[in-house]
Amino acid sequence: MEQKQFKAESKRLLDMMIHSIYTHKEIFLRELISNASDAIDKLYFKSLTDDKVGLSKDDFAIWIYADKDARTLKITDNGIGMTAEELENNLGTIANSGSLKFKTENKLDEENQIIGQFGVGFYSAFMVAKKVTVISKAYGSDTAYRWESEGVDGYTISEDDKTSVGTEIILELLDDTDDEQYGEFLDTYRIKGLISKYSDYIRFPIKMEVSHSRPIEQSEEDKEAGKAPEYEDYIEIETLNSMVPLWKKSKSELKEEDYKHFYTEKFYDYNEPLKYSHVVNEGMPSYNALLYIPSKAPYDFYSKEFEKGLQLYSNGVLIMDKCGDLLPDYFGFVKGLVDSEDLSLNISREMLQHDRQLKVIAKSIEKTIGNELKKMLKNERDKYESFWKEFGIQLKFGVYSGYGINKDKLQDLLLFTSSQGKLVTLDEYVTAMPEDQKYIYYATGESAARIEQLPQTELIKDKGYEILYLTDNVDEFAVKMLMNYKEKEFRNVSSDDLGIENTEKQEEVKAKEEENADMLKAMADSLGDKVSKVVLSKRLKSHPVCITSEGEITLEMEKVLNSMPGDQKVKAQRVLEINPDHDIFAKLKSIENDSEKLGKYASMLYTQALLIEGMPIDNPVEFSNLVCELM
Ligand code: ADP
Repeated sequence: MEQKQFKAESKRLLDMMIHSIYTHKEIFLRELISNASDAIDKLYFKSLTDDKVGLSKDDFAIWIYADKDARTLKITDNGIGMTAEELENNLGTIANSGSLKFKTENKLDEENQIIGQFGVGFYSAFMVAKKVTVISKAYGSDTAYRWESEGVDGYTISEDDKTSVGTEIILELLDDTDDEQYGEFLDTYRIKGLISKYSDYIRFPIKMEVSHSRPIEQSEEDKEAGKAPEYEDYIEIETLNSMVPLWKKSKSELKEEDYKHFYTEKFYDYNEPLKYSHVVNEGMPSYNALLYIPSKAPYDFYSKEFEKGLQLYSNGVLIMDKCGDLLPDYFGFVKGLVDSEDLSLNISREMLQHDRQLKVIAKSIEKTIGNELKKMLKNERDKYESFWKEFGIQLKFGVYSGYGINKDKLQDLLLFTSSQGKLVTLDEYVTAMPEDQKYIYYATGESAARIEQLPQTELIKDKGYEILYLTDNVDEFAVKMLMNYKEKEFRNVSSDDLGIENTEKQEEVKAKEEENADMLKAMADSLGDKVSKVVLSKRLKSHPVCITSEGEITLEMEKVLNSMPGDQKVKAQRVLEINPDHDIFAKLKSIENDSEKLGKYASMLYTQALLIEGMPIDNPVEFSNLVCELM
């Protein structure tokens, strides 16, 4: 018979499974049962609209047979089955072609990552078996087929005489070694344990013939003679799973462990969730939900490939794996599921979008998530800050997008790094404001350390006012959308009016500026369209110069907007501010009549200011030459 080859990637995964040092090889059973359950789901779904299926809900079951003599474990289902082509496509290739891109130093780490992130499905059978046989007959097909493989060398497909629709998977277990007792997977007790640990909530019965022994009824004489009773074996069919999904169990029955375990298994996350919530809503529509906040953002979370959504069940039947309409984008990091009896089972995807019940559920879920986050912020600050580190930017995007339509819902969930070296909420900021502080001050830059150095922050810090450090691209846009918080306006430290009363000093600077109007104009002229004007600074204390902007577009926004794709570039109106109390001002005065030299000074100071601001400079070589020349 023709030996077929696995696709290259599958081969690698298979090879990894065969040589696995993964510590939880037992998960193979969960994977096979989950596949069986999915297959039954599909046929059950069909049976609702197609009488030809000829099975009703109670007829569906998964069976496990353990044969200790032959050392085989067999798992069967009467689900949808696979055609020869499907056997070839589904088992010869792995679905997740991205799953092998992990590369870590540590083999176990890599395995954990791969197995954790994706759930390796069917191939996990090769962690415990030397040979795997899949016999399957697809619904609607006349012929059954047998797929056999002993690992990386390939597989064969041939016809089989199986008569009933469904799939049978036979594992020939590996020989026991000093480290691994594969034979224990044939042990009834061990199998029962695994089912209750991983597959308890599977909606179809997982059945097994379990042998027990019982004492044989003794005759009166034997009893009187005190003879020891003899025992006989008998077989009983047991259902190993409770079939009640976790989310339908009562909360009092469940432990933290159960929720966390369910999460790591179901959502293939190697990390425990940061937070979970079990929602039981008796109202209209009634629904149960399990919501989880992951502790780490998935590797693709900030990429286009990421798809938000919750699993959607209608009375225990999965109808959609990722229902995006259940989550607003800004809560897109939430994982979990919703189960409602008030949703029609054979509702189509297109209809779902317009389903009123679904909208009501989504609203209610959104509220729950918001409240959970608020609670966490209030009671578990450390946890919240670690959540913020992973997903905070998503909330800021939420404030900004849709022209700020959701800002009221989100503003109290925001955290900002402040000049006090910690994360603060807007409420904390405003509450701590001294009486005479008019505005909520913020400064923008690529890192807190960078902002710390900005000359523009000096005066405000000197007054003892706190400054919010905006370091993400979206920050300033979000703040612009908020406009104010508790009636306090946001103010960029670079803006013209800082609302700081210091009239005496301001008057003084103003007078000086008028006195030197010609010189400042000459400097501005020599800089051409680089700046809109050169002024004397009211905010600088020890630094010689800084760059600020006037008008709607700030320097930070210029940076962000110009980094986006598109030809249209924007330019902030730059203002070069010179510190009138700095020695450099005296120097400028001394050369004020030498227009060529004044121009060179203007150019050097302008470039210096750009450097401090973290902006690119036009011509580093020219700048360097200029510095040498003036020295
Ligand atoms: P996944 O379940 O994540 O898709 P698997 O490797 O476990 O990946 O399975 C690959 C595919 O093989 C499944 O998507 C399904 O189409 C098919 N399959 C596996 N087991 C069965 C089964 N018992 N009955 C029908 N189809 C199955």
